[in-house]
This record gives sequence, structure tokens and C-alpha cells, in this order.
Amino acid sequence: MAISKELLDILVCPLCKTPVKLTPPGDGLKCETCRRIYPIRGDIPVMLIDESRVEHEEPSPASQS
Ligand SMILES: [Zn+2]
Repeated sequence: MAISKELLDILVCPLCKTPVKLTPPGDGLKCETCRRIYPIRGDIPVMLIDESRVEHEEPSPASQS
């Protein structure tokens, strides 16, 4: 385990301030609001918008806005 629960609790997306969640493989931190995934490098979460990537998902029929 790289990232502690305590650290996860205080980490938020720098863009929209949504608390991020660990991705299932545990290799990134995902913001479910703007769908950015922030990388984890050497056990250090990189909470930089420039370093993030946007996850592509199938558009759902019921848009949640
Ligand atoms: Zn966000």
C-alpha cells in the first residue's frame, strides 16, 4: 500500500476541490467530478492539473449534471 487512508482523506482535486479516490489498480487518484486521474509516483501523489489525465468513459444515457 502506497498511499495511506489519512493522506487520501485530505487530498482533493486542485481543479474542483472534490476528494479524490484511489483507482482500482492503485496507481492513481481519480476525481469523479472532472474525471481527472492524478498519477502516483514513488508513493507520492502528484496533484497537479498539468500532470493529470482525463479518463474517457462511455457517455451514459442519463446525463448527470
Ligand atoms: Zn476534479
